[in-house]
This record gives sequence, structure tokens and C-alpha cells, in this order.
Amino acid sequence: MEPKYIFVTGGVTSSLGKGIICSSLGLLLATRGLRVTIQKLDPYINVDPGTMNPYEHGEVYVTDDGAETDLDLGHYERFLGIPTSQDNNVTTGRIYYDVITKERQGAYLGQTVQVIPHVTDEIKSRVKAIGDSGEYDIVIVEIGGTVGDIEGLPYIEAMRQLRYDVGRQNTLSIHLTLVPYLKAAGELKTKPTQHSVKTIYELGMQPDMLVCRAEVPLDHGIRRKIAQFCNVEIEDVIASLDARSLYEVPLLMKEEGLDQRVIRKLQIKADEPDLSNWIRFVDAVSHPEHRIRIALVGKYVDHQDAYMSIVEAFRHAGAVNSCEVDIVWVSSDQLNAQNAEKKLKDVSGILVAPGFGGRGIEGKLEAISRARTQKMPFFGICLGMQCAVIEFARNVCGWKDANSTEFDPDTYYPIVDLMLEQKNIHDKGGTMRLGAYDCALEEGSNSARAYGEHMISERHRHRYELNNKYLEDLESNGLLVTGRNPERNLVEIVEAEDHPWFVGVQFHPELKSTVERPHPLFVNFVGAALKYANENGLVAHLQGNKEEKPVLK
Ligand code: GLN
Repeated sequence: MEPKYIFVTGGVTSSLGKGIICSSLGLLLATRGLRVTIQKLDPYINVDPGTMNPYEHGEVYVTDDGAETDLDLGHYERFLGIPTSQDNNVTTGRIYYDVITKERQGAYLGQTVQVIPHVTDEIKSRVKAIGDSGEYDIVIVEIGGTVGDIEGLPYIEAMRQLRYDVGRQNTLSIHLTLVPYLKAAGELKTKPTQHSVKTIYELGMQPDMLVCRAEVPLDHGIRRKIAQFCNVEIEDVIASLDARSLYEVPLLMKEEGLDQRVIRKLQIKADEPDLSNWIRFVDAVSHPEHRIRIALVGKYVDHQDAYMSIVEAFRHAGAVNSCEVDIVWVSSDQLNAQNAEKKLKDVSGILVAPGFGGRGIEGKLEAISRARTQKMPFFGICLGMQCAVIEFARNVCGWKDANSTEFDPDTYYPIVDLMLEQKNIHDKGGTMRLGAYDCALEEGSNSARAYGEHMISERHRHRYELNNKYLEDLESNGLLVTGRNPERNLVEIVEAEDHPWFVGVQFHPELKSTVERPHPLFVNFVGAALKYANENGLVAHLQGNKEEKPVLK
């Protein structure tokens, strides 16, 4: 079958959940036996989001092949369960970078280089490259931003052209819009949707289907009105109501017939979707037997998108343990020895988050020290692992000045230091140790038990590493190296001896947790925290929750 392309645009406002709609549609099509991938086109001029701060952009998601990408790729992987790559995220910065590089190389043979056709051709070639790979039946292309944005124009134009290049029958355009409810008027309003669709007409595109975000159900009359004014069939007006959890969205979309309409319009023959695993997962999330509190200590707790994959990994791991993980957000730069008792009250586990720069480090060390001495389960990720080593060096080995050279270049004990190959790198974008690396696990360790394997592969994003010079001393004091990269002998995992669950990892396990394959370290960590909670009377038992009406049939 020729690959089919589904373009998804958004209108009226941002934050309508385009990424979740794309992921949900992708899942519904994949469970029908189709090979699906999702590509995100981002109209900003950064080459990738790697250089943006988490307040701007939320989490930077890293793929196996080391691309720093938009956090929507995380949703795509969590829903579809298949890895994405650098080809799945294209930005205007990347497009222009390549066009200008080609121009400097003389590739345009003296032509005037213009947005149309050179920039639009470059965009089209990126989309087609995925379709032409032969790996997929369906390529869903999510266009970032909102129609009408100046920076989005070349993308809409590229989509318009592509519809003819690959044949109209092989493409579908879905527009996501908002149908607001005006309380004072007691009515849903369709005008913003009409205007938004009109904006796309002006750019030469006609949406085939509309997904309408609304707070209250769309009745037949409203659907008819939208269909009539926006040139679509009434069955192609799909309502997307607020869901209790983003994992319920595929089920709501199925009820609305989104995937059914899509395969019909694209004339694809496909099996009925089998969503039984997904439904089991959503049921487990909505009806946990226990609830525990786990502290997430980080610098951006007032901007939780920065930790999106960690939050979702907890949800996956919670479902496995039949346990709701209530995350207690603790701002590391406001945590100290005086208030730690209060701020970490009633938690059964502590996760110290990844990050960059020295702000909040002392708070992280305080949290780690409490987890270590109180034998409470601790999970340190990347910077969190580096902090665990610093805390151990200072408080157990007695090296008072121990630090990472990231925060104190002159420390007498540089127990965390720049990796050798990083020493001469000054450019910021895409220059860290990025992407998947192997890690050999030490038999008998908590990590090896969790994974049930000897060799694993995990994704990285860091410049600093544990300084091998201090390993022997750290180990003899009880901080064991339980995971190592075999090629370069880099420390990837440390664990505290004589502690039920104290694990620090240099990589980012959260990036590989999916609904289908919850991450073993998160599953194990939540299991250990649940045990701690049980032993210390910190667990809420929720059997009563069963009376809550299941959302699913
Ligand atoms: N700042 C640390 C480093 O570069 C940790 C990075 C991270 O947590 N992702 O090594």
C-alpha cells in the first residue's frame, strides 16, 4: 500500500492537545494493524529545542539516535510504543540551516533561493522521506502552532502542495479547533471554528475532518451547523471533550468514530482495533488499590511540563503496582535542613530530578541525605544521580568540599567532572552526550533485579560524569557501581549498600517508559516506596474507589 499522510493543524488557540489527538489517532490506527508513525513540524527558528529553557518549552525529549526534540515525541512513543528518531521532528531552524548550507555549497546552481519553492521543497522532502522509507502505512504530520501564525505559513503551503504531489486520495487534513461554551449565553459558540477554517481556506486547504475541543457535549444541531459552515460531512465533526486522563482520549476518540472515518476516507482496509491492553491500563490507572506520596525534588516544579516523562513514567509504574503515585512537588531551591521535615512529610520515596546549573543543589543534597539515612527509597536521575554521589562523598566519605565542577570548578574533590570529549566543546546545541548507550549491569544489584537482564540500553543527555578516580574510595565506603558503559567504562548506575532501594542513574529511564512497557526501574521504585509506605503507615487504601463508575465499557 502507498503511504498515506494525515496532516493535523490547530486553530483558535494553542494548547488544545494536538499532540494527544495525533497520538490517540496513531494508536487507534496501529491497533488496527497499520504501521504508523507521527512527525512533528515546529515553526520556531531554534534548530531544536535543546537550547531552550524548560520554562519556554517544557521537557526536551531525547530519541535513541540522540536528537533533542519536542516533548510531543514523548507522547507519540508512550502511546504507540515504537521509538521515534530525529526524522520525527523538523523545525524551521533545521530547514533554514539546511537550505542555507546547500546554498553555500552551490547546490541551487545560481537560482534565487526563496521560501517558495526552496523552503517548502525542503519541508516536503522531510515529510516524504518518512513515507518513502517503506516502513509505514500511515504518516501523521502534526503542524505546530496555530493556523494563521506567520511562521506556520510555509508548512501549510508545503502540505497544500504535498496533497497534489502524492495524490489527494493519499492524504487527509484534520483541523483541531475550539468550540467554547459561553456561560452567560448558555451556548456553545461555533464562530471561532468557522473563522479558523476560513483561515485555512485562504491558504488553499480544505480540512476533511474537524476535531472540536469543547467542555460540554456537542449536540446534533451544533454538529450540523459546524459541518454546514465548514464544508465537512456531519460525521466528520468529531467532539473532543475534556478527559480525566490523557490515556482516556483514544477511547473517547474511538467512541466518536475518529479512526473509522479516517480509514474510510483514506480507503484503507484495516482490522477492528484491539484496545484490550489499553483498556486494562486505563482501568488500572482509574482504580488503584493504594495511594502513596513520592516527592519530586527539582528546580522547575512550578512548571511541571519540564518533567513530563517522569510524571507519565510514574503513572505507568503506578498502574503496574495498583498504586496511585501522588507526586509532591518540592522546589529544590526552597528546601533546606530547617524545613525538609515539613516539606517531605508523609512521603514514601524521593526522586531527585535531572537538571543543569547550580541553583537548588543544596536542597537536592538535603533530600538525598534524608532518603539515605532514613532508608527511604531514593531514585536519582542524571543530575539527581550526580547529586547522590556528591552527598555520599561529603557525608559518608567525609570529603566536605566534594562537588561537581559544573557548580564549583575549583573544588578539591571533583568527583563529578566534565567528560573528556566535552572539554573542548563550546557550542551549545546538540553537543552533549546524547542518545542511546549500552550499560552492563552488576548481578545481584537492585537494578539488575528490576531489569531482569545483563545488558540494557538507555538514553542520555549530559556533559558531566562520575570521576573514575574516586570510584574505589566510594565503593569501599558503600556506594557501589552497578551499571557501566562497556565501551568507555563510564559509570551509569550507582547504588547504596545497606539500603533497600537507593539508585542513581546517569541516563534518563523516564524517556523509555510506555504504556505497553512501563519502565522497570520506575516500577521497582514505586514497588519499594509502596513497601516503605506499608511499613510506616503511609499508604492510603482505596478499595472504596471501586464504586467510582468505570469510564470504559
Ligand atoms: N548538568 C548535568 C550534566 O550535564 C546533568 C544533566 C541532566 O540532568 N540531564 O552532566
